[in-house]
Amino acid sequence: MSHQTKAIVQGSLDALLENKLFLPDLQADAREQAFTSLGAILSTPNKIHKSFIRMPLEGGKVVRIPAFRVHHNDALGPYKGGIRFHESVNEEEVINLAFLMTLKNALHGVPFGGGKGGIVLNPRDYSVKELNVLSKKYVQYFADALGPDKDIPAPDVGSGEREMDWMMAEYKSIKPGQPYRGSFTGKSVINGGSLGRREATGKGVYFTLRYMLHDFLNDQEDVLTKNQNGFAKKALAAANRPLTVAVQGFGNVGSVTALEAYSCKHLQNKVVAVSDRNVTLFNADGLDIPALVNFTATNKGDLPTTEEQLEKCGMKANIQDRNDLLYLEVDVLMLAALESQIHKDNMDKIKASIIVEGANAPVTAEADQFFNDKGAIIIPDILANAGGVIVSYFEWLQGRETQFYSEDEVFVMLFKQMKATMDTILPKFFDDPFPLRQTCYIHSVMKLSTVLYKQGKLY
Ligand code: GLU
Repeated sequence: MSHQTKAIVQGSLDALLENKLFLPDLQADAREQAFTSLGAILSTPNKIHKSFIRMPLEGGKVVRIPAFRVHHNDALGPYKGGIRFHESVNEEEVINLAFLMTLKNALHGVPFGGGKGGIVLNPRDYSVKELNVLSKKYVQYFADALGPDKDIPAPDVGSGEREMDWMMAEYKSIKPGQPYRGSFTGKSVINGGSLGRREATGKGVYFTLRYMLHDFLNDQEDVLTKNQNGFAKKALAAANRPLTVAVQGFGNVGSVTALEAYSCKHLQNKVVAVSDRNVTLFNADGLDIPALVNFTATNKGDLPTTEEQLEKCGMKANIQDRNDLLYLEVDVLMLAALESQIHKDNMDKIKASIIVEGANAPVTAEADQFFNDKGAIIIPDILANAGGVIVSYFEWLQGRETQFYSEDEVFVMLFKQMKATMDTILPKFFDDPFPLRQTCYIHSVMKLSTVLYKQGKLY
């Protein structure tokens, strides 16, 4: 596990102890022992599965592609987390992401543990047929580690419904006669996926921002007076005027988040910039997000990069370098691309005062500290981007019951669950001196410590 993740675990544990929140009923000796055991459990994954996918490509060349599946912790239920298809995947990253899934599920009361997978490749370099073989091989290699009550993968960066359908079908043929509908989530609806799963993460990200800034603080006069970290006043001030928003990443999360912000007319927030791996598009009057979504659907997911292509969308925008988006003079920066986008070398150029983590770990620990000291608001990944795994849970349930919910029902349930988490977390956050990320981590770690203790694992 990275130095950064270890530091976060330790920080949350120390805060628990200092505030007498860690198993308060235990005798001092037993508490100390349990505390050490918990630190070891959280900072070490239960199991790391790794292999090389060996396969001939269509041209005859044979490749060896590293592939991972990490089981971080299953105290709360089967391991759960996506499979990332990206060339930057590495073992340490997969471990960190699996750990974040353990915390995310604990935070939102999702009865799953934390896991994550990764395949080191750029999917754009492979044909559909090759990707199909690769996905099937991934399941063959890790079949014994997977299963509806063991470890349930889902899409992540670079993978989606198509890959989940292939993988579920492969799992079914490897384990004939066994339950398979809940073996993968994020499948297409026709293959047992849930309505609303594709949009769930992006919708949840915008809902989190909206609820925190606009809905929660209504009628909360006492919060304003009690609030120690100055957040509530800032949030209210921000909520009282339309905000300018920039969204980094225009994939499954970023495009839906941008569309939500664009469509939520009553708040009059304006999406002035979006970016992807090629370009930043900026228009101070606001971008036509539906036109961009339509364009990307027929352009391999990429945003327009030329005046001609923008004209096709019937819109005007400045075409800038992809990284320019981060440094724009906007109120809200929504990070929906990859991790470590804001770090010690670029943090002082960021002008936004509200940062929302649609991606996992897009802000490094140093940058996080820097923004906290500056008094910026960071809505952390495990709080903001849990929509995907929450609807994955609904999909898993629907697979068991073979009874399906309407799209409206899914979104009502999703927002209810995210609201319940915020209603638990926010009063604590407004009451204590920690940044929001720390409050969320403390809540998750506290829950895990009680569960692990009751399971007899903290001796
Ligand atoms: N990959 C998503 C995440 O990081 C979804 C995981 C899931 O649905 O299991 O939260």
